[in-house]
Amino acid sequence: MIQLHDKFFKPFISAEEIETAVDRLVAEIANDFADEVPVFVGILNGSFMFTSDFVKKYPKPCEVTFIKLASYEGLKSSEDIQRLIGLTQDLTGRTVIILEDIIDSGKTLAEVYRIFKNEKVKTLKIATLFFKPEAYKKDFKLHYVGIKIPDKFIVGYGLDYDHLGRDLPEIYQIKETQHMTNLVLFGPPGAGKGTQA
Ligand code: 5GP
Ligand code: MG
Ligand code: MG
Repeated sequence: MIQLHDKFFKPFISAEEIETAVDRLVAEIANDFADEVPVFVGILNGSFMFTSDFVKKYPKPCEVTFIKLASYEGLKSSEDIQRLIGLTQDLTGRTVIILEDIIDSGKTLAEVYRIFKNEKVKTLKIATLFFKPEAYKKDFKLHYVGIKIPDKFIVGYGLDYDHLGRDLPEIYQIKETQHMTNLVLFGPPGAGKGTQA
């Protein structure tokens, strides 16, 4: 078990299991695009480790670049339209494969689609290492999915909890604390209220 800030996390997906999933995604994509030189686009920050491992394993020539989605300054709502930083390359006529760390609600993916609509790419495909089917609210097809996971918060392999945990080579899942009832029982009246995350 590890602690990051105020939360505890338990080992969930080993480095070996991640590698197996990355290998499978590489094999599927290399097979589907055998005659092309795809442009792999990693979405920062979360997918830096996945993208790095993926392109190292990719058996044919390819290009790799990164983009980052950033909220417009001043707007705070989670429904914000986002802008993109880092797309300097002309992708006209190219086969573009987005490499995402994790797809949860699909909101980020919807933004990526909205942004790429303006680029005259030949093909746009989505590959995600992790996917939470129970949380997904969009209709976009996910072309390549690594590992399906339950709707619980994870960290590691690029994914952070408030900036910590990105460096971990394996995945950890948030641990719902078993001491909560004790805290409520032994605390002053009302203690523990609102702590049931
Ligand atoms: P979506 O837009 O699909 O709801 O969420 C995608 C983004 O939310 C991911 O790129 C990631 O930054 C963040 N996210 C979603 N689920 C998790 C999770 O379980 N752990 C972490 N660390 N980030 C997550
Ligand atoms: Mg991401
Ligand atoms: Mg994050």
